Amino acid sequence: MTDTTLSGRCLCGTVDYAVTGNVLRFLHCHCERCRRASGTGHASNIILKPAGIEWRSGEGSIKRYKVPEADRFATAFCTDCGGPVPRVHDDMVVVPAGTLDSTPDVAPEARIFWDSRASWSCEAGSLPAYSEYPTA
Ligand SMILES: [Zn+2]
Ligand SMILES: [Zn+2]
Repeated sequence: MTDTTLSGRCLCGTVDYAVTGNVLRFLHCHCERCRRASGTGHASNIILKPAGIEWRSGEGSIKRYKVPEADRFATAFCTDCGGPVPRVHDDMVVVPAGTLDSTPDVAPEARIFWDSRASWSCEAGSLPAYSEYPTA
């Protein structure tokens, strides 16, 4: 298993990070929570597990919000600019792909929660689209 390192920062640059780990998934998520959290048609997340994160700056400027009724759905963002930053769940890190400094070696593999998408959302294109989570 090869380790990948992904680095990025928030909109204002206060929060700067490097995540190292095994890329598990790269997904576009069209669920309602991701839409509200991002303000756009879907979130684009790279999930690494196991992984670790180094906050190169700005760790003290991160606020985390967990949806009270959700098992684990949470967002993390820079308190200066409001831009999303990676979220850490135990040994898993979820990286919002739009915060990356450069193009990652991995490509999106699927769209999920397709049945929850907004009617104005982008087309699935060539990617498989799952009604919720991919099965197995
Ligand atoms: Zn910021
Ligand atoms: Zn989602």
